[in-house]
Amino acid sequence: MNLEVPSKFKNIQNFALMAAKTIFRPVSRKYDVEEHTYPIELDLLAAGLNGMNEGSDGSVGGAATKKEKIDDGSVKNGGNMANCINIQAMCYGDVGLLLSIPGQGLGNAAISAVANPAQLEKFSKSWAAMAITEPNCGSDSSAITTSARKEGDFYVLNGEKIYITAGERCNVVVVWATLDKEIGKAAIKSFVVEKGTPGMELVRLEKKMGIRASDTAAIVFTECKVPAENLLGSPEIDVKKGFGGVMETFDNTRPFVASMANGLAEAAIERTKELLEGKINLDYKTPINNVKSVEAEIYRMEAEYEAARLLTLKAAWMADNRKPNSLEASVCKAKAARITNQLSLKCVELASSLGYSYNELLEKWSRDSKILDIFEGTQQIQQLIIARRLLQKSSAELK
Ligand SMILES: Cc1cc2nc3c(=O)[nH]c(=O)nc-3n(C[C@H](O)[C@H](O)[C@H](O)COP(=O)(O)OP(=O)(O)OC[C@H]3O[C@@H](n4cnc5c(N)ncnc54)[C@H](O)[C@@H]3O)c2cc1C
Repeated sequence: MNLEVPSKFKNIQNFALMAAKTIFRPVSRKYDVEEHTYPIELDLLAAGLNGMNEGSDGSVGGAATKKEKIDDGSVKNGGNMANCINIQAMCYGDVGLLLSIPGQGLGNAAISAVANPAQLEKFSKSWAAMAITEPNCGSDSSAITTSARKEGDFYVLNGEKIYITAGERCNVVVVWATLDKEIGKAAIKSFVVEKGTPGMELVRLEKKMGIRASDTAAIVFTECKVPAENLLGSPEIDVKKGFGGVMETFDNTRPFVASMANGLAEAAIERTKELLEGKINLDYKTPINNVKSVEAEIYRMEAEYEAARLLTLKAAWMADNRKPNSLEASVCKAKAARITNQLSLKCVELASSLGYSYNELLEKWSRDSKILDIFEGTQQIQQLIIARRLLQKSSAELK
């Protein structure tokens, strides 16, 4: 594994860093304060991203991952790696704004991962949110009660979904629903529901602690008729395969969330070092037992950040090369989110009153960081998955 950023992704990284610095950062505080106001600056960015994607071999922007075929078994850094590099660079600017870029939802990653060619054609230009969570179902997604009933050429959805990122601004929502609650996980399928479909009603926008530039919606489905061809993956209920189909999406998206954490961590460490300029001397030569305590703290944060970044690239590289990466995807998300929670608060502490001030973004980043250890599976859930993989236990054996 080459640990350098592949040269073919340098342009993507440079473009994302430019967007982070010149588009995101200047409006970061504005949309933190003006929660639920759409950041119009993102329209221009989305247009630029679409232009870059056309004809390119990897996707730029948020979470959309292009499928890559590897016929000769050669090692290839593809769409997942590109996305991780890109997402980290954008989140160096602002996580909430990254989550609000039109056309780059987590539902797009689900569509990319499991859609057939006709569905890819139909939905590839959509902005897709992802709706799994329900009032009584969060970490344990097998407990989903939203139902899908087959009626002729349609599925009829009934249920309530909450905490849907981009649920208001997107144009389609990927909804997880069960074809038969009695059968359990194997009967859970995902459906692409277009905004404006009768029976689909946005009932609430959440007010949040962090990532306030990103809209988070609750949507109720009442006898909502969705064309049968909008079911992603196989309509058959395969009890042997269980949850496999839908859960595979997370193997792609967890490294993306880890990359969000890495971008935020990079920003927080860098700003803290700038604020402490003149008070610290980071020469990386003096032994750790002979440096100031604050310098030792920064070295530790940098080491943790670098470990998280490399674990993330490894998980993405495995996804691109079609190597099973559930373990690595959870490892990188658990590590990156946890250390970013810790170090973003540590940065507030080290910068002290400035860190706590609204004049700086450090306090905002410490609030923004918390979600990264909650959505796409909490810290505890990642650890559970890691334990299951290492001990080779099923979800029934280790709960
Ligand atoms: C801002 C935001 C955006 C979101 N975006 C989306 C989205 O786009 N789409 C979507 O579907 N959902 C989204 N979510 C929901 C998110 O994925 C859930 O909040 C998350 O999965 C946790 O579920 P829960 O909140 O119901 O907590 P619970 O599952 O009730 O968990 C509560 C606590 O118990 C712990 N816990 C639960 N089970 C176990 C266990 N077996 N072992 C040990 N500890 C356990 C958890 O780690 C957690 O600390 C979002 C949430 C937020 C806050």
